[in-house]
Amino acid sequence: MNLEAFQLGTSGMMPLPGRFLTSVLVRRDGDLFLFDSGEGTQVSMKMLNLRWKKISAIFISHMHADHVTGLPGILMLSSQVDRTDPLYVIGPQKLGDYIESSRRILDMYINYEIRFIPAETGVVYSGDGFSVQAFPLIHTKPCFGYALVEEKRKGEFHPDKAMELGIPKGKLWGQLQNGMSVTLDDGRVIESSMVIGAAREGRKISYVTDTMYFPQIADYVHDSDILFCEGMFEKALRDTAREKKHMTSYEAGLIARDSDSLKLCLQHYSPRYSDRELRILERDAKEVFPDTVLTRDRMSFSIPLKD
Ligand SMILES: [Zn+2]
Ligand SMILES: [Zn+2]
Repeated sequence: MNLEAFQLGTSGMMPLPGRFLTSVLVRRDGDLFLFDSGEGTQVSMKMLNLRWKKISAIFISHMHADHVTGLPGILMLSSQVDRTDPLYVIGPQKLGDYIESSRRILDMYINYEIRFIPAETGVVYSGDGFSVQAFPLIHTKPCFGYALVEEKRKGEFHPDKAMELGIPKGKLWGQLQNGMSVTLDDGRVIESSMVIGAAREGRKISYVTDTMYFPQIADYVHDSDILFCEGMFEKALRDTAREKKHMTSYEAGLIARDSDSLKLCLQHYSPRYSDRELRILERDAKEVFPDTVLTRDRMSFSIPLKD
C-alpha cells in the first residue's frame, strides 16, 4: 500500500513567487487527502499532475485567508470531473458557512455532494485501514492539527513454522492467516499466533500549522513518520512568534524530538525570509532535531511500510 505526501506550498501569510501557501496532499493508494488550501494550491497540484477526482477529503486547520482562499476554486474544479462519491470537508465550524456562502455568492455549479464535518478533538474521518484525528492548537482563532494514522497490519505468516508443525498446506493455512485456530487430524489445536508474527505498526503523517508552541503537541503527533510542522520564525524571534501565536523552527524541532517522530518537514515560512535566508530556519530546527527537511514547494515524500 503506497503512502506519499506532497508539500504543495510552504509560505505563510501570503503566496510569493515560487512559494505557494502552505498545503499538504497525501496520497494513499490512489486516494487523495488535502490539508489546507490557500491561493496557489491548485496550481501546485496541476504541476504535480495529481487528479482532482481522487480527493476524498479536505482538512482545514483554521479560517485564516492563507489557508482557505484556494478552497472555492478546488470545489469548482471538482465539478469538472465526474465524481459520484461525496467530498468530505472537515474544519472549524465557520468553514461550513464559508462553503455555503461561497457556493451561493459565486453561483458555483457543483454536481456532487459536499459533506461538511465540524472538527473536534478525536477521529474526524476514517477510511479503509486508517483514520484522521484532529487535535486543538493554540492560535488567534480556533485551529486544528491533523494526523492520518494507519491501523496496525496483521502480523506476517511464517510458512516454515506451519510446515514444522505439520499443518497441511491449503485451507488450514488460510484459516490461520485469517486469525482462526484450527484442529489437525491428530487432535492438536493450532492457534494462529503460533504461525503469525506480532501485528505490524501502521504509518502516521501529522500536519501542524499556525499555533504557538506548547508541549502537548508532541503527544498528539507522537511517533509520526513525517511531521509537517510550522517553523515560521527563527529562534531569535521567539517573542514575536509567541505574540502572533506562531512557532519558531527551533520549537518545531522540539516537537519532532519529543514526539519521537522520524522526520520533520518545516513549512509555513514567514515571507520576511528570502529563499536563501530560509537556511536560518533549517539550522535552528536541526539544532534539536537533525532529521529536519527545509521543505520546498512540490517536494514529495514516500513513506515505506514498517517491516
Ligand atoms: Zn497561516
Ligand atoms: Zn493563521
